[in-house]
Amino acid sequence: MLTDAFGRTIDYLRVSVTTRCNLNCVYCGKQDCEKKDAELTVAQIETLVRAFARCGIKKVRVTGGEPLVRSDIREIVAAIAHTPGIETLGLTTNGVLLAPLAKTLFDAGLQSVNISLDSTDGSTYRHLTGADVLQRVLEGIDEARLIGLSPIKLNAVLMKGVNADGAGALVSLAKNAPIDVRFIELMPFSVPGESDALRVTGDELLRQFPFLTPLPTEETETARYYTAPGYLGRIGFISPVSHKFCERCNRVRLLANGSVRLCLAADETYDLTAFLHDEAALEKEIRRLILKKPAAHLFGSSAPKHGLNRTGG
Ligand code: SAM
Repeated sequence: MLTDAFGRTIDYLRVSVTTRCNLNCVYCGKQDCEKKDAELTVAQIETLVRAFARCGIKKVRVTGGEPLVRSDIREIVAAIAHTPGIETLGLTTNGVLLAPLAKTLFDAGLQSVNISLDSTDGSTYRHLTGADVLQRVLEGIDEARLIGLSPIKLNAVLMKGVNADGAGALVSLAKNAPIDVRFIELMPFSVPGESDALRVTGDELLRQFPFLTPLPTEETETARYYTAPGYLGRIGFISPVSHKFCERCNRVRLLANGSVRLCLAADETYDLTAFLHDEAALEKEIRRLILKKPAAHLFGSSAPKHGLNRTGG
C-alpha cells in the first residue's frame, strides 16, 4: 500500500504516453501539440507500471497528449493490462482515432474510456480544437459502446461565450444512452488571467438544470454525479476550482518522459528513468517521492507553468 504524508492512500496512476496531440484545444496547453518529446518505450512503461503496482497502485488510466497517436498503443495497453496487481485500466482520448482502434484495444485489455467532447456543434468543435473532426469523434463513441468498453464517460470543458450554450445538448447525450456526461471546470493552464471569467462552475450548471437529482458518490470519486427521470446515463461535475477535492486525491501521474508529477497543478517533476535498471531501487524511489505529494493544488493563487498536454489530464 502507498500512503502519502497526509494519510491519503495512493492507488491510482495516470500514465501519459505522449505529449503529442492531433488536436490543439484552446484551453489545454502551450500550442506545441505536434512537437515530439521523449517518450518511454513499451518495455519502460511496463517496468514502471510493474513497480508502481508492487507499491500499491491498482488502477491505471492511459492518457496524453493524445494516447491514440502512438502507433504502439495496443502493446502499451496489453502490457499494462497484464501487469499483476492492476485491476482497472481506462484510457482518456479525444476520440478522433477511436473508431478503428476500439476493438483492438478492448481485446488487448482496455476496460473503459473517457472521451473529450466539448461541443456537439461542428463549428464550435472546430473552433475549440482546431480540427473539423466532430463526426469521427461521434463514430468513436458509437464504436466504443458497440465493442463493450464500459463505462463510457464524455468529458466537457465549458467556457462562457464560447461553448457554454451547448451544455443542454451535451446533457441530453446521457438521456438515451448509458453514457456519463461530465463537466470539468476550466483550470488555469493556458489562459491564467482569463480562466476565472470564462469558467462555468458545477453549481452554475446545476442551477441551469434543476431537474437533476444527486446520486451517492464514492469516496475517491472526483465527480459529483446526478441523474434525471428517464436518463440512462449520469451527469457529473468535476469542480477542482470551486469544490476542491484534494483531501480525497488518490492519484499520481507518470509523464511521457518517465518523470512523475505528484499533483496536476504542481510544476515540479521527478525523473524515474535513472532507476529503470534496478526495480528494487525504483520501488524505493516511488515510496520516497510519494511523501512529497502536496496537500492541495494552488489554483486560485497561482497558475501552473506547464500545459495539460505535457501532463496528461
Ligand atoms: N487527448 C486526450 C483527451 O483529449 O482527452 C487526453 C489528454 S487531455 C489533456 C485530458 C483532459 O484534460 C481533456 O478532457 C481536456 O478537456 C482536459 N483539459 C485540458 N485542459 C484543461 C483545462 N485548462 N481545464 C480543464 N480541463 C482541461
